This record gives sequence, structure tokens and C-alpha cells, in this order.
Amino acid sequence: MPRLSTFADADSAYDDARFVVLGVPFDRTTSFRPGARFGPDAIRQESWNFETYDLETGLDLADVPIHDLGNMPEFGTAAEMVDAVRAQLRPVYAAGKIPITLGGDHACAPPCVEALPDGASVGVLYLDAHLDFRAEYLGDRRSHACSSRRILEKVGADRIVVVGVRSVSREEVDDNRGIGMPFVTAHEVADEGIGPAVDRALKHLNAERVYVSLDIDAIDPAYAPATGTPEPFGLTPRDVKVAIDRVAPRLAGLDIMEVSPPWDRGNTSGLAARLAREAILRAAAAQRRA
Ligand code: MN
Ligand code: MN
Repeated sequence: MPRLSTFADADSAYDDARFVVLGVPFDRTTSFRPGARFGPDAIRQESWNFETYDLETGLDLADVPIHDLGNMPEFGTAAEMVDAVRAQLRPVYAAGKIPITLGGDHACAPPCVEALPDGASVGVLYLDAHLDFRAEYLGDRRSHACSSRRILEKVGADRIVVVGVRSVSREEVDDNRGIGMPFVTAHEVADEGIGPAVDRALKHLNAERVYVSLDIDAIDPAYAPATGTPEPFGLTPRDVKVAIDRVAPRLAGLDIMEVSPPWDRGNTSGLAARLAREAILRAAAAQRRA
């Protein structure tokens, strides 16, 4: 019987691992329907569904060194969570490893980027139905509704692009006029095709490597219904797979946020687990070729 409390095939020692899984069971800034705090363990559990061998890369995940650090403790405020996640991930990046962080609400993503070493040439591909560009929300600058803005403040407007957008507030659009964070809507992806749309998005990133932040609500609720703020007209699972495949040779880190298991029958968490495995496989395959 597999150990369902760890991510599947994450059986390497930390020192040997190239990929490091971390759970952040924090959802205190969720604004509509809660439950993302249960995301990390549900994604881990569903990860055991899949074969270790991958047809496309020819790799076997049993041969890829992965370590699971387990979950962060509970926190009372987003500010406390942010400090702790930054402290947890700084040594992971410093050791040259690629973190795969499982949330949790999207407030958990900015500290994953803020933990990157100073001067790192890393841009952020931010996949989301929402722009997440509020200066603050309900009095909290660390709300999940502010996450792309916090990341932009860290990396700069030439190192973040949002893909999959189809829900914004007037204030976000007005604020962004003076700031200029680029974004590609889900409707543009549907019209252009995901390959050209991702290539166009990545041209905005003035960086060598790419960090991917995936809000699972980027994907259409027909495929990923279990999330805090579902939004119709979304990306397909394959769209996100193709986006991950394109950036995986340059992957600096990945997070998958906003999976809310109380609303799930296993399809959303299973999709999240499969996309995490996809990123690991594709990045490992690129490292093997290099
Ligand atoms: Mn988000
Ligand atoms: Mn969202």
C-alpha cells in the first residue's frame, strides 16, 4: 500500500532531490467558498493514481529524485504564512532544487517567488481566471486577490505575465493602466491556440528561467470544479499541459493553488497531481538532455 501522506514517488532523501514538494494548507484569505487548506493532502492522495512511466518523455518518475517536505503548520494570518514559506523555500532554491508547492489559496504563491535568490533571472507565468491585481482586499495586502500585484512588486512588470484571465474588476483595470502588467485572456487563448498564445505571453518575460504559478481556476470549471471562485470559459487541461511543457526546460519552480477538495470528486485534485507530475517529468527530461 503506498504511503498516501507523501506525493507519489517522492522517495528520495532531501540532499539527493532535484524536485522538492511542499504543502501549504492555508486558505484564510479565500473570499467565496473555503476548503483549499485541504488541497495539499488531496493532491498527494490522487498522485498515487498514475503510472510512474511516462509515454511522452520515456522517463520513469521512480528514477527522478523527488523529496516531499510535508506540510507547513497552520497560521493565523497571511503575513505569518508568507514569512514562514519564504524561510522554508530560500534554502531549497539556494541548493539548486526546484520546489513544487501545493496550496492552499493563492496567497501562498507570492512567498514562493519572494524566496528566490536576489538577482535571479526568473520571470513568472501566472495562470489564473482572475487578475489578482488588487492593491489590498478586505484590508489585507496579502489576500489571494492581490497575489499577482505582490509578485510584480518583487520581480517587476517585465517579469510577470498572466494567462487565462476572464474576470477582472474595474479598479484592477484602471490600476494596471499605469503599471502595465501584460496578460492574455482565456478568450484569446481559445482564438489563437495555446501554443501561439503561450509563446506571445513568454515574450513579455525578460528572464532566463520561468516560475509557474497555477491557480487551478485558470482551467474551466467543467474540468476543475473544486475551487474557491470558479469562473466559466476557462482553459482546457491540455492548454495548461502545453504551457507547462513549453516552459519546463527553464522551470525555476511551480505552485498549484486553490484546489478545494470539499467540492471535489477527485477530478480537480487528480488533475492538479497530474500537472505537477507533468512539470517534473518535462523538467527532468530537459535536464537529462542538457
Ligand atoms: Mn488566483
Ligand atoms: Mn483565480
